[in-house]
Amino acid sequence: MLRHSQTVMAAPPYPAANVQRLVGVSAGSAGVLGLHRLRQTDAPTTAYLMIGERCACNCRFCAQARHSTARAHYLSRVVWPLYPLETALGAVAQAFERHEIQRCCLQVTAAPGGFRHTVTAVDRLRALSAIPISTSIVVSGLDEMAALLEHGADRVTLALDAACERVYADAKGSGWSRRLGLLREAAARFPGRIGTHLIVGLGETEREMASALQRLVDWQVGVGLFAFTPVIGTTWQDRPAPPLRAYRRVQAARYLMALGICRVEDLTFSPSGQIVSYGLGSDRLLELLRDGRAFQTAGCTGCNRPYYNERPGGMMYNYPRPLTTAEAAAAASAVLSAASCAELSHLRAAGAVVHGGRR
Ligand code: SF4
Repeated sequence: MLRHSQTVMAAPPYPAANVQRLVGVSAGSAGVLGLHRLRQTDAPTTAYLMIGERCACNCRFCAQARHSTARAHYLSRVVWPLYPLETALGAVAQAFERHEIQRCCLQVTAAPGGFRHTVTAVDRLRALSAIPISTSIVVSGLDEMAALLEHGADRVTLALDAACERVYADAKGSGWSRRLGLLREAAARFPGRIGTHLIVGLGETEREMASALQRLVDWQVGVGLFAFTPVIGTTWQDRPAPPLRAYRRVQAARYLMALGICRVEDLTFSPSGQIVSYGLGSDRLLELLRDGRAFQTAGCTGCNRPYYNERPGGMMYNYPRPLTTAEAAAAASAVLSAASCAELSHLRAAGAVVHGGRR
């Protein structure tokens, strides 16, 4: 099991002039890569590496934000000790060879030189290994995406984070429409190779989240779903994480949309925007959710992000492994209870349900 993050010792500090030769490696990844000893019950199946210094952006939820006072080398609730780039990439290649990891994800802060350092890292890793490489990076446009793919990245992820413009403006600032437009263009030009991240709990309604998910599914943009995690030192350190039931309902929506089983137009929402029906009978919904796959980590193939949003032993927003029968039943029942027939008929009788669809 991953121990408390503070017990993980960072590698020795390196001079600032060498920063381009260093890379952060998430504590769990460093354990799998053999860079330090760490006992884990759920090990990462992707090696997560962080490129760049403190970010130029100022997202209110992010430990790497410009005004964040969170300790350096944290992202969400995970510590990312620094290692020499060549050491980390060599260890990634070897772990892939041993079939201990399936992918490498380069998470890039918006710091000067970030794009150039990422291209270098992709080049060096590609020279060592055929491992699929994801890059989660704020690119300036399609040309930078094309360059990353040409250099050997398998997937480029441009994080939207927020489900709609209103929430984006509050959490991140301006630019939601431009980023959404870029995702649409990129997905059309590089089908199957573009991804994004969405965070549940930034102030959106489930209806807004479901509408965003449907657009992205329609464009074949892969969605990595996250739960907002309050981190000490960020502007939103005191904001609560989303209720687990709300997260389960969104997970179910994403899963069913991705499978083409339902669309946002089939969903029904309460006046406050909570999902109350997926347009499916309870038996059918249970049948679709009972294997628990809807509640496993969503994102690039092989990405399981253990304990990125969760504390060991705490609530599991994203399961980094297949669920046990009991876990799957509990997760499915959280979805079903919100979509109970009784509640829905009551809301319908009161004329208080709202059907889905883009605004
Ligand atoms: S979904 Fe996972 S592997 Fe893909 S970019 Fe996001 S964190 Fe990286």
